[in-house]
Amino acid sequence: MHEWSLAEAILEGLTSLMKQEGMKKVSEVEILYGEMMELELDILKFALEELSKETPMKDTKFIFSEERASFRCNSCGYRWNFEQAHSSLSEELGIRELAGERESPIHFIPELAQALMRCPNCGSRDFEIESGKGIRISRIVFEG
Ligand SMILES: [Zn+2]
Repeated sequence: MHEWSLAEAILEGLTSLMKQEGMKKVSEVEILYGEMMELELDILKFALEELSKETPMKDTKFIFSEERASFRCNSCGYRWNFEQAHSSLSEELGIRELAGERESPIHFIPELAQALMRCPNCGSRDFEIESGKGIRISRIVFEG
């Protein structure tokens, strides 16, 4: 249920930003979230709605956009995406993905990826997660 703590963190961040900027209302907030987080958007939206009820953010419109994950090998410079990462990790762990079944027994978490994944091109474990890992506020529209 990390969606609830994320919602809390988002609202806290907005509150301190409003104080800092001397604003009374936030009409719109755009949130960019990484594909690797596998967020339950419905839960996050619900949590934001519930937690903002008694705050100045109760009428704030939250817009979500997904940031695609990308990985880059430090040895050969090869770049790959989330789908490739997912299947190479499943291979690494010996997990057979059944035909037509997207569901994998392991939840794809960044820490696990970092520890187990290899570059699909050269097999190196020395790679970086370039994007798609975190969550951030990309745009805020203040009012008043
Ligand atoms: Zn490589």
